[in-house]
Amino acid sequence: PRLANQIAAGEVVERPASVVKELIENAIDAGSRRIEVELESGGTKLIRVRDDGSGIAEDDLPLALSRHATSKIDSLEDLEGVASLGFRGEALASISSVSRLELTSNAEQDPQSGWRVVAEGREMQPRVTPAPHPRGTSVGVRDLFFNTPARRKFLRTEKTEFGHVEEAFRRLALSRYDIGWTLRHNHKTVHQLRPVSDAAARERRIAALLGSKFIDNALHLDLESGGLRLWGWVGLPTHARAQADQQYFFVNGRVVRDRLVAHAIRQAYRDVLFHGRHPVFVLYLELDPSVVDVNVHPTKHEVRFRDGRLVHDFLFSSLHRALGEARP
Ligand code: ADP
Ligand code: MG
Repeated sequence: PRLANQIAAGEVVERPASVVKELIENAIDAGSRRIEVELESGGTKLIRVRDDGSGIAEDDLPLALSRHATSKIDSLEDLEGVASLGFRGEALASISSVSRLELTSNAEQDPQSGWRVVAEGREMQPRVTPAPHPRGTSVGVRDLFFNTPARRKFLRTEKTEFGHVEEAFRRLALSRYDIGWTLRHNHKTVHQLRPVSDAAARERRIAALLGSKFIDNALHLDLESGGLRLWGWVGLPTHARAQADQQYFFVNGRVVRDRLVAHAIRQAYRDVLFHGRHPVFVLYLELDPSVVDVNVHPTKHEVRFRDGRLVHDFLFSSLHRALGEARP
């Protein structure tokens, strides 16, 4: 069972964007208030995520990287074979097995403190060396897939890979307004987002991430019923063609792609007046965590609601009402 757990805990590392997602999620988990992402060459050359979270204590540093080391998984290809079944956690171990990874962290308040471990492929220097770092963690991932040419071949152009990274960044930045974010690519700042708390500032963040056209033509809504709350922005059709990919739905703060949700939104959209229009939205559903399982398939962002019908009807009627009222 231990082995099964370890294998099941493996993480799918598909491309730079999946690395960025895992590293950012770790930074969020560590309670960070600032997260900085830096890339070179679409992330194929360098991915660095720096945070001001809790940090990792000296003794725990090697463990963070080596946790799922198992003699049974001899190659990445073995891992790939079972990856499609869905995995979670153990991201650092997976990432370090296909890159040159450097983890620097400081769990103390003393800014002169800090330690570093380095891993290259599946070889790890267990040596922890002193490396001053402000409280928090930096993970540097260089030369992704340098030791797995088959994987490397699947990487697309720098521009495409960066596009995927930016999309992952967008989703995560839309999931946590209270965190400040930076995204840099090839030494240029692409996004710099201050932490925000009020609605107006949230709209400015959305404009920065999705373009002002989206927010200028969006309806703000905030509805609650029977323990369910739906808030956010839904785009009203304009002459400008809506961008088909601007669909962001979060369940209790986690990015979710779900057919039931998509169906409810599409129905409401169609029913009101927007026939043939592509819905665009940034919506947040909040509900009692015990009635939803968001971990059905972590890499596919699926959810399972205990009462799907109830959620569907709530989404449909909320949007129907809000859109109906907005109809000119
Ligand atoms: P998981 O997140 O599923 O525990 P990971 O491989 O992503 O697995 O991370 C391993 C461990 O390393 C985490 O459980 C955490 O203790 C530590 N860790 C990783 N990244 C950070 C970070 N940015 N800040 C603090 N701790 C971290
Ligand atoms: Mg993790």
